[in-house]
Amino acid sequence: MNIVFMGPPGAGKGTQAERIVENYRIPHISTGDAFRAAMKQGTALGLEAKRYVDQGLLVPDEITNGIVRERLQEKDCENGFLLDGFPRTISQAEALDGMLTAMGREIDHVIDLHVDRDKLLARITGRRICRSCGATYHILFNPPAKEGVCDKCGGELYQRADDTVEKVGTRLDEYINKTAPLLDYYQAKGKLRKLNGEQDINAVTEEIHSILRGQAE
Ligand code: ADP
Ligand code: AMP
Repeated sequence: MNIVFMGPPGAGKGTQAERIVENYRIPHISTGDAFRAAMKQGTALGLEAKRYVDQGLLVPDEITNGIVRERLQEKDCENGFLLDGFPRTISQAEALDGMLTAMGREIDHVIDLHVDRDKLLARITGRRICRSCGATYHILFNPPAKEGVCDKCGGELYQRADDTVEKVGTRLDEYINKTAPLLDYYQAKGKLRKLNGEQDINAVTEEIHSILRGQAE
């Protein structure tokens, strides 16, 4: 099961990925998470990525492709993977095709979560993430039982530095200019499944399950 989740920042990719990987026992590969981990550790990659992430800009393709190329070689990807936030440019998509062809594999489903731009600001600025396990919450739409505390592990919730009103505009522009053209790329390959990401979280999960089971229209 080789899956790609697409959609603008705040569409719900990470939220849905948490649920889907539990069911299918495949790794959740988020390039955004990888960059944040490297930035936290202060590695050379982290320092380089920070120059772009802090501004809401995409990290250059060569750097991003290298991370994914290495990650896909790991043993836990043998039965499949869920890519979240990669590819984000045509050149990344072409690089991914090359990596998978070399491994004798291909993408099974590209699932696009559609959410209108005017809804994304509230989603992104209200997002909170667990420092320990990475679980995603929203202060209004998906609040934890106890404010600031993760339901799953008791960890502390924090707000991403790039989840501010100032950064969101740049991040959405990057999506429109560089990532949205990928929808045509995957449509032309017959891989694209679009779904309404504005439904509640459980309804979106159900639709994804039916696509993965091959039962959706
Ligand atoms: P992405 O990974 O696509 O950037 P997230 O999964 O982190 O998006 O979701 C962004 C924010 O919106 C989070 O705070 C999340 O709790 C919330 N959210 C996700 N899906 C929904 C939904 N269907 N309805 C309302 N809020 C949602
Ligand atoms: P995300 O967690 O997916 O919202 O990503 C956070 C930030 O990491 C983005 O704003 C980019 O700066 C960077 N990033 C994540 N994935 C990619 C990618 N595939 N290509 C380039 N930059 C990325």
